[in-house]
Amino acid sequence: MKVSPDRLLRKLAKYHVTFDLVKGWDSPSIDPYKGRNDMQGVILHHTAGRDSLRYICFTNPYAPVRAAHFLIQRDGTVQVCSGSGAYHAGKGGPWQITKALTIPKDSGNSRLYGIEIESLGTSPRIDGSAQGMTADQVVSTALLCVALLDAMRKGPWLFKVGRVIRHRDWTSRKIDTQQDLDWWRDVISIARANRKSPAIAEIKIRTYIKAHPKGQA
Ligand SMILES: [Zn+2]
Repeated sequence: MKVSPDRLLRKLAKYHVTFDLVKGWDSPSIDPYKGRNDMQGVILHHTAGRDSLRYICFTNPYAPVRAAHFLIQRDGTVQVCSGSGAYHAGKGGPWQITKALTIPKDSGNSRLYGIEIESLGTSPRIDGSAQGMTADQVVSTALLCVALLDAMRKGPWLFKVGRVIRHRDWTSRKIDTQQDLDWWRDVISIARANRKSPAIAEIKIRTYIKAHPKGQA
């Protein structure tokens, strides 16, 4: 469905996502689809770098279009880069989500949210190393995904975690992210099941990470 910047903000607040808005995040000038998005799912990425906010928002080759909708910083802060369109999926797909719904080949950018997680991406471990990720990042990514699963579905329901994939599931050109897809869906499921108590969701996610620190379900 079409998700407006206002709706997105309401859902981020509802699920206690810790976020900052990047200048211009809701400006029509950054939206290549001119408000005609049809959001149906989420792609997880790692940045393969450090301090990627400037690149994603201002210096990527397609700027002022953004290279992701969100950046998860090392301390878990969610930077909201775009509340409308972004270029992040690129060539890939098709992705059949349900019997009735397929994201067509090479059409992910206008239909899938892109979440970039700041990590060199050379290790799947959730150990705080620059090569891997921090537990704070995983908690924030899970809460953000729950907010998006709600934002994309009309009425008092949320989509299931099958709406989330990794970039490497969209296209064989990519290796991000290093963690198993089932591992990500496990942590997002914990956040989804405990969505009325974000503090409890966080405790349970951290417990899961301790038991599965290599990103394997
Ligand atoms: Zn990617």
